[in-house]
Amino acid sequence: MPSIIRNSLAAKVFLVCFLTIHLPLIALIVYLGLGRPSDPLPILVVALLATLLGAVLSFLAVYQLVSPIDRLIRAVDRYQQDGIEPFVEVRGSDGIKRLAEKVLGLVRSHERSLAVLKRQANSDSLTGLGNRRWLQNAVSIEINRATRRGQAVWVIAFDLDHFKDINDRFGHAAGDEVLMIVAEVTQRQLRPYDLIARIGGEEFCVVATDDSLEFGLLAAERIRSAIEGWRPSLGGEPHTITASFGVHRGDPAVETFAEMLRAADKNLYDAKTRGRNQVVGASL
Ligand code: GH3
Ligand code: MG
Ligand code: MG
Repeated sequence: MPSIIRNSLAAKVFLVCFLTIHLPLIALIVYLGLGRPSDPLPILVVALLATLLGAVLSFLAVYQLVSPIDRLIRAVDRYQQDGIEPFVEVRGSDGIKRLAEKVLGLVRSHERSLAVLKRQANSDSLTGLGNRRWLQNAVSIEINRATRRGQAVWVIAFDLDHFKDINDRFGHAAGDEVLMIVAEVTQRQLRPYDLIARIGGEEFCVVATDDSLEFGLLAAERIRSAIEGWRPSLGGEPHTITASFGVHRGDPAVETFAEMLRAADKNLYDAKTRGRNQVVGASL
């Protein structure tokens, strides 16, 4: 097929219409060329049959040519309603193929942008940890699981001590570096499936499920001691960074996460008022 026809929907439709419209004429030329009777009745019958055949053929051919548009519309509808990513295979190389490729390409780039935005909306770009929004979503899954299993949910809130001084003395970039390393140091003290988020400027939150009566207190003490023992070089001198911890052992059957976090925050406040660099939390 010449490329002008292969690449153009209009040329294909025109070709189909041209051939099928002329089918009666072709049939009559063939009929008379074969020396068949030239009475009006058989000629009319041949013309009528050829017209019907032409109509059926043109319907089938045009339907075949434009049906990918219907499939594309259905696929885009499904995507809009249920979020199912559209997949439409279109053969050939005409305008419909190019339109389908463009629509599917747009949907794919829309999906990619959405994924990037979701990741950005849920994560803290400085430390790579989840943020408060991420924690809230992740916690609801964790709390459902803990409720089913009858497990306790430990919430550990901690805040770096006198962090403003670090910024003031060594600069904001040094403060950022400290936040990044604190995130790393903390993660190393936790199990891979425990949740950790940076929920404020220099405030972090860990959520973990465990039935033992001491788990959260011990984990908080491990993190506290690892941060204290790290001693980064700031302004050319080793410097001690400390943090204060509030721990709460929550019962997911009777407490919401907001209530658990409030209780942990209250203990964190007590840790600050009692002199900082310590863990406060009642073991039940
Ligand atoms: P406290 O022991 O009572 O917690 O004292 P603090 O100095 O840590 O607390 P304060 O709330 O007075 O100061 C928190 C500081 O944390 C102030 C703010 O500039 C700093 N901060 C918050 N977010 C960031 C950040 O992303 N990067 C840096 N470098 N500093 C931050
Ligand atoms: Mg602080
Ligand atoms: Mg703070």
